[in-house]
Amino acid sequence: MQAMPRTLFAEEHEIFRDSVRRFIEEEIAPYHQQWEKDGQISREAWLKAGKMGLLCASIPEEYGGGGGDRLYSIIVMEELARGGFSGPGFDLHSEIVAPYIQRYGSEEQKRHYLPKMAKGEIIGAIAMTEPGTGSDLQGVRTSAIKDGNELVLNGSKTFITNGQMCDVVIVVAKTDPDAGAKGTSLVLVDGGTDGFRKGRNLEKVGRKAQDTSELFFDDVRVPASNMLGEEGKGFGYLMQELAWERLQVAIMAVANIEAAFGWTVDYTKERKAFGQAIADFQHSRFALAEMKTEIAVARTFVDRCIELMLKDELDGETGAMAKLWTTDLQGKVLDQCVQLHGGYGFMWEYPIARAWADARVQRIYAGTNEIMKVVIGRGI
Ligand SMILES: Cc1cc2nc3c(=O)[nH]c(=O)nc-3n(C[C@H](O)[C@H](O)[C@H](O)COP(=O)(O)OP(=O)(O)OC[C@H]3O[C@@H](n4cnc5c(N)ncnc54)[C@H](O)[C@@H]3O)c2cc1C
Repeated sequence: MQAMPRTLFAEEHEIFRDSVRRFIEEEIAPYHQQWEKDGQISREAWLKAGKMGLLCASIPEEYGGGGGDRLYSIIVMEELARGGFSGPGFDLHSEIVAPYIQRYGSEEQKRHYLPKMAKGEIIGAIAMTEPGTGSDLQGVRTSAIKDGNELVLNGSKTFITNGQMCDVVIVVAKTDPDAGAKGTSLVLVDGGTDGFRKGRNLEKVGRKAQDTSELFFDDVRVPASNMLGEEGKGFGYLMQELAWERLQVAIMAVANIEAAFGWTVDYTKERKAFGQAIADFQHSRFALAEMKTEIAVARTFVDRCIELMLKDELDGETGAMAKLWTTDLQGKVLDQCVQLHGGYGFMWEYPIARAWADARVQRIYAGTNEIMKVVIGRGI
């Protein structure tokens, strides 16, 4: 569904989009159902995605990335969301974890991690949330205390995307537990470090092919040079990236409902009841007309936000608005689409059922939608 032509993408972007679509068709779609059973995707898929240039597309070439603008990463996000393939945690790896390293990392950290991340040899995660605190990040209790030339980490994290598979995790920790937000720092911890343990791969109601994990840190010792950026500035760094991170959720929401709308139109035109297509009942037509309108409005707003983001002009409040509104709309649209599919809409084998389940968390992670209202309200 495309109500109005989009103006963001140049020809080279569309060529890239074609190759992403082909990659998804050949390397993601045939395996996704199995990955849902496994609770994670395969390492091979990460390596193949790296080889095809789907990872770290906007990281500079000198660090092994694609060297493109963020539209390339957006294309990967959109195409996965359009297909309903929620397993690959490529967006978090490429457009959340890698940019932190690129922006705040030392030259040595960048040279060590980024080229391997771009190849899919190293999988990245970011661990903010703890069992006792999610929305209130100032309440983080995991500590990273200096001991000579080392940092000693203790604490636990939960709900961490790519958590089972990650080879490096950015840990949000208190380097000065008495200094509140000012005592918060970001620390890089490699998989396999003594005392760093991955807990359960959590069983979720949706996004089943995506690994989401508990992580434990028991006297984990890392060199002090594993600090990402400056000590005590972690909270500020997190805040600076939020608008873009929230826009990513909005981008995936809109791509996903555009696709779901298309599946629903096709289904309701085909399926008959009382001697006519479901799509021909006035109720169905009105429901579809409303959805089409709202999705077009969402698309226009999100594309405008992308435009601002590309110019580095997207502010936190607008990013929060995009996340809030599009994910609320996603919930509403997918629920309607399930309804129009009747009982088939509740069957896991139907993409619409998966999309409905996968989408629920969009209102929860990257800051809950209530927190989005707090952010927007603060600026009024
Ligand atoms: C599938 C999945 C993947 C995730 N991936 C990651 C990841 O990779 N890394 C990571 O660090 N975290 C991740 N998270 C965690 C996610 O970001 C948190 O779950 C989220 O921020 C909410 O925190 P919480 O679960 O502790 O809820 P809480 O903060 O306990 O919130 C509970 C309820 O209270 C409401 N609430 C809280 N504060 C306020 C307020 N001030 N005003 C009004 N209402 C409020 C919330 O909106 C919510 O409705 C993931 C979560 C899920 C489910």
